[in-house]
Amino acid sequence: MKRLENKIAFITGGGRGMGAAISKRLAEEGASVVLTYSKSREKAEAVASEINAKGGNARAVEADSIDPKALTSAIQNTIGELGTIDILVNNAGIYIGKEFESHTLEDYEEIMAINVRAVYVAALAVAAQMPNNGRVITIGSNMAENAVGPQTTLYTMSKAALTGFTRGLARDLGARGITVNLVQPGPINTDMNPSDTALADFLRSRMALSEYGTGEDIAGLVAYLASEEGKFITGTAITIDGGLNA
Ligand code: NDP
Repeated sequence: MKRLENKIAFITGGGRGMGAAISKRLAEEGASVVLTYSKSREKAEAVASEINAKGGNARAVEADSIDPKALTSAIQNTIGELGTIDILVNNAGIYIGKEFESHTLEDYEEIMAINVRAVYVAALAVAAQMPNNGRVITIGSNMAENAVGPQTTLYTMSKAALTGFTRGLARDLGARGITVNLVQPGPINTDMNPSDTALADFLRSRMALSEYGTGEDIAGLVAYLASEEGKFITGTAITIDGGLNA
């Protein structure tokens, strides 16, 4: 029997980047997967089709994480149609990097709505009905502990908020055997952080390992945390960054 057989997983931002790799991996491990998109409908549907073509069970649903009602109703629809959610993966995120002096309140509102508020909204929508031994896994960033360089203030602030969320929620849900963890990737080759830029050269120069990671590297850790083997890990942040923070 596969590790995640009979589990239902809800993954935000599953159409591309890390979210796509996580969706595919959880499906390979036997989970039924619902993945959300806001802009990347075709890519999200392609991920779901690829999973289904391999005998898995996946669907792509539109849910802009900036809109609490849209995200909540996507989760409620999933529960109504498939059953209670065993594994919530809060993956969707954005990066806003620019000189601090040019930041606006709108930048703050946008990044906090997607990177922080949506994580809270999704957890709230799944928590009451999540079965015992459920999993809440959020994708943070190694930058919560190491801002690395300039133009990172807002992003770093948003990702640091997730450490408090993770600790608190682990204690709120722990009596039900539900684990709550934060995965903090370092440089991963995606649209957000392509590995062929000057920034990438700078980041590589700061890493213990000299190569960028892949979405699959992150997906492997998420699958482990989601599985029975991960049942004693909760309330913590696991940094997976090729030694950038070492
Ligand atoms: P990408 O930019 O490649 O992908 C971002 C994903 O988030 C897309 O699936 C996108 O979907 C989704 N998303 C963004 N905004 C919204 C929204 N408003 N509503 C719903 N979905 C949304 O980024 P990565 O795959 O690299 O990032 C995934 C996570 O990992 C993020 O939380 C990011 O902060 C974090 N991270 C990334 C690192 C890296 O080096 N790449 C390092 C550390 C952390 P759509 O296109 O449909 O909007």
